[in-house]
Amino acid sequence: MEFRQFAELCSSLEKTSSRLKKTFILSEFFKKVNGEEAGISSLIILGDWFPGVSKNKIGISDRLVIKAISRSFGISESRIETLWKEKGDLGDVAAHFSSKREQATLFKKKLDLKEVFETIRSIAYAGGEGSVSDKIGRLSKIITNASPIETRYIVRAVLGEIRTGVAESIIIDTLNWAYLPKVAGEPGQSGTFLICPNCNNLVPSLSECISCGHPLKGIKIDDWFKKQNQYDAIELTFEEFREKSKQLTSKTIIKSPDASKIIKDIKEKLNFALYVRNNIKEVAESVFSKGIGGLESFDIEVMKPFRSMLYIKAGSLKEALDVLGPTVQAEYKYDGFRMQIHKKGEKVKLFTRNQEDVTAQFPDVVELIKGLDIESCVLDTEVVGITKTGKFKPFQSISQRIKRKYNIYELANQIPVEVNVFDILYYNGKSTIHLPFKERRRIIEEVIKPIKGKIRPAVAIVSSDLKELEKFYEECLNKGLEGVMIKALDKPYSPGRSVGYGMKVKPVMETLDVAITRAEWGEGKRKGLLTSYYIAVKDNSLKEIGKVSTGLKELKESGTTYSEITKELLKHKIKEEGRIVFVEPAIVIEVDYEEIQKSPSYSSGFALRFPRFVRLRPDKGIDDVSPISLVRQLYEIQRGKGNRINQ
Ligand code: AMP
Repeated sequence: MEFRQFAELCSSLEKTSSRLKKTFILSEFFKKVNGEEAGISSLIILGDWFPGVSKNKIGISDRLVIKAISRSFGISESRIETLWKEKGDLGDVAAHFSSKREQATLFKKKLDLKEVFETIRSIAYAGGEGSVSDKIGRLSKIITNASPIETRYIVRAVLGEIRTGVAESIIIDTLNWAYLPKVAGEPGQSGTFLICPNCNNLVPSLSECISCGHPLKGIKIDDWFKKQNQYDAIELTFEEFREKSKQLTSKTIIKSPDASKIIKDIKEKLNFALYVRNNIKEVAESVFSKGIGGLESFDIEVMKPFRSMLYIKAGSLKEALDVLGPTVQAEYKYDGFRMQIHKKGEKVKLFTRNQEDVTAQFPDVVELIKGLDIESCVLDTEVVGITKTGKFKPFQSISQRIKRKYNIYELANQIPVEVNVFDILYYNGKSTIHLPFKERRRIIEEVIKPIKGKIRPAVAIVSSDLKELEKFYEECLNKGLEGVMIKALDKPYSPGRSVGYGMKVKPVMETLDVAITRAEWGEGKRKGLLTSYYIAVKDNSLKEIGKVSTGLKELKESGTTYSEITKELLKHKIKEEGRIVFVEPAIVIEVDYEEIQKSPSYSSGFALRFPRFVRLRPDKGIDDVSPISLVRQLYEIQRGKGNRINQ
């Protein structure tokens, strides 16, 4: 397939903001291509370059792309940068130079979608001496062969954000629309489809046809279901659907008293396949050739990263017990980082919860796992830094290990880690993902023999008594842990989702009032707006503690907007350097956050983890900004060493 067709698809996706229209456009495209092409298109749209292997970034920087554009069009880097600031998007800048040059170029090689995808991946893989200039050369070669529209999306793709506004969940819906059976319904019946009497297309049951705009209100299933002859119309209950699902195709349209159950089931199967293998291309290829039957074969695979199950936050222990009980397992909530451990014979692979491959950074863990008397397994664990006396170290020490590229062994000696195993998803050749948690825990206890300071099953109790659970929680906080995890005993493992099979309970942190000291210009649809803010607390002078960019809104109805803050900040502008605007500290905002960490990156010596804008505080001046002493106090509380703010 020509890359041009894909670029045109991206352009039309970009032009509509409606989620349903995007799904429709994409599904019309998917219907015309094969599973592999649909898969590759999805990967480029999502910026997911190494699916099912690792989520490691493509690793091509703005700087390198600027050099490649400069080489392709013979334009100076500074001119490119000036235009970048104006347009806010390097893809648009490249397209601009490409269109200027286009008239002069007589011959261009037609770019192929798969070839572009593979070339960009190979650029990311290229390493070693001279690799930077090699990368620039290869990228510049594809840009030189591309038309303006292709250039725009190649550059954006390489930078990891193609800006079509298509999220993964839209692609999941699209796979359903294009390749799987659909459920018949009437306008207003969510997730169902009907045949438009005007254009004769099978379209979502909305008030008007997504394809031709014809009004659909008032249409009843019986008006069309039996009369149409383009689709295999079939009436099924949920049980019959389950039995026959392998024989149903994209040409099947189902009428059912259990419509919403069937819709939910198909969606869950798609999501499960994606989350367990983390590879949208495989999912696309499978549903393209095997329909629902293909989805049923997805399961955890050893050596391939999956998406970790997530846990909902409970307001209190009682709430967690009510939801997950009557009997639950409570476990230490360790404050380290989550690591998926895969073992097959002598081979071991380690991934973060975001599927980044960190095997090289943890040779000590690799050795430890190799030594386990298990032929193959996949473990879900929390890895914690520990001191020589066996005490837990704060999260930051271990975060150094994740980032380290050199002197890895030296750092492993300085910061030893303990692996706390809290789940097992694969054991000696078999997936255990569908087993109830108590079964999985039994296997953990059987096969993970504790080695002091190195590996152990997560510390846990099983209880149905709130008092006993409270005592355990207290013990966790006193030990400097973040809180407790409460888990249902009878539930399977659900990759990538917070389905409520487990809940976390931890103390709530106080919000902070902080001053904005600097701000950064946004990109893409947020160009011309200041969208990230450096924030500071009060010491002798203001000291920065982080950078916040979430919590603000695009629209006034939803809350404080980027444009309001931008206007305010520009009134206090002191100077501008590159993309950063320095302001006189005058604006106070309230932020919340997940955690306070010690950090050399900011002048306060602390950093807020996941800070989020809560509200503007026009009622507060610089004198009211939270003092560093409060930050220190909260830091200690969070480490379990001070008095808790609440329980
Ligand atoms: P949070 O990061 O606050 O959303 O809490 C969920 C995280 O706690 C998980 O992703 C794990 O990294 C971590 N965690 C620590 N101890 C456990 C445990 N015993 N069971 C599950 N997750 C744990």
